[in-house]
Amino acid sequence: MRCSVFALIGSLFVFHFCVAGETQFRAGAAVADVTPQPGVSLDGAISKNGPVVGIHDRLHARALVLDDGATRLAIVICDACMIEREVFDAAKSLVQQQSGLPTDRMLMAATHTHAAVRVTHIGTDPIDDEYHRFFARRIADAVLQAEQNLAPAQIGHASFNKPEFVRCRRFLCEPGSVDVNPFGTAGERIKSVAGRSSAVIGPAGPVDPQFSVVSIRHADGAPLAVLGNFSVHYTGGYQRGMVSADYFGHYATALQSKMHAGTEHPPFVGMMSNGTSGNTSVIRGDGKQYAPFEWMAVAARMLASETEHAIKAIEHRSDVTLDMHQSELELAVRRPDEARLAWANAVLANPAGPHPHRWSKIYADEALHLHEYPSTMKIKLQAIRIGDVAIAAVPCEVFAETGLAIKQQSQHPATFTIELANGYGGYLPPPKQHELGGYETWPARSSLLEVTAEPKILAESLKLLESIVEDKTGRRAP
Ligand SMILES: [Zn+2]
Repeated sequence: MRCSVFALIGSLFVFHFCVAGETQFRAGAAVADVTPQPGVSLDGAISKNGPVVGIHDRLHARALVLDDGATRLAIVICDACMIEREVFDAAKSLVQQQSGLPTDRMLMAATHTHAAVRVTHIGTDPIDDEYHRFFARRIADAVLQAEQNLAPAQIGHASFNKPEFVRCRRFLCEPGSVDVNPFGTAGERIKSVAGRSSAVIGPAGPVDPQFSVVSIRHADGAPLAVLGNFSVHYTGGYQRGMVSADYFGHYATALQSKMHAGTEHPPFVGMMSNGTSGNTSVIRGDGKQYAPFEWMAVAARMLASETEHAIKAIEHRSDVTLDMHQSELELAVRRPDEARLAWANAVLANPAGPHPHRWSKIYADEALHLHEYPSTMKIKLQAIRIGDVAIAAVPCEVFAETGLAIKQQSQHPATFTIELANGYGGYLPPPKQHELGGYETWPARSSLLEVTAEPKILAESLKLLESIVEDKTGRRAP
């Protein structure tokens, strides 16, 4: 009798030890609606989209939670133009309070649909602030539900190129051919969205045409979630005051109409993050005229079809490990000097003009706002490894050349970048692009970091990617 009791205890111990030593990869996904009410402010001063008057298609926060038995992490992609750090931090705190998932194990990003809210506290009304609090709550709801949905899973990745969809929107022009900038300074070499002009030499930078796909399915092979990543700014074709998730949301919807998890699983979740689109725009290549909101759906269906095709060739695996590191960089803010402040005050004292540029008043106003900013800003950078896929997260609107450098210099077999993540740091032109000038470089709350921010962020991102190469067993990642 005593002998068999010991045998039983012994076998339980061995059984427990085996389970603990195994890698059991699990995943869960969930969606929360974040559509604003009528009256909430849409987008910014230049787009002039005004307050919400109607809904074309609804906005969502889409969460994916992954767990390898030792590390749990969350990726959340939100239908918003951009989201400030305070809102993401509030969402992360809510999750940590409720489920214990540490705040440094969450990557949260905005897609950059322009037919949605700038979830930043830039000149907001009480109704906007209320929306920001609602947004943080809903992000947390999506993560908590995704954690509830965790189930044994397999994961794999693929990519395809879509060069016919993306172009550089900054055009290098002949010296002397570009009008003065809003501050009245001559000598810039860039026209953004220049159209056809004899002065245009060509695009001012490369594009990244790669569409990356991370596919997650249940242990029985049923689809669980797909994360796509592409580097087009947005597709547009909006109507004033109408809310839309742009092609990011339509891609998710198109995948959800093709891929069904079955009744025994929670619903399949599609999601698409923005890669490095600070200097890119979409190409509508077929020359057709599209009705408002039509092209975004057409483009999304094409990308969803190619994604579905790419997934068929993926070898999904359950023996993957996860890792995630984050760090902070303190960067200088390009606050106006005395001369720029004097210029801004003179422009605003004489609103009827004449002014050097049709946007001079906007940039004069921005100069006064930047004057109130602290001299430095802390930005959060992250790197995530999911098996042999690596993701670098940056809170800025990143240029294609930076994303390409991250992909080329990363040691991981597959790497991509998610921009507008964990906060909002404005456009991130490399120093060479700052020299050329153009819209993305003009100091404003949407372009505020120091001229050398890009090389510093690139170096730190590569350091973070290096730090997640080894898994917890000390083995190099495959
Ligand atoms: Zn934009």
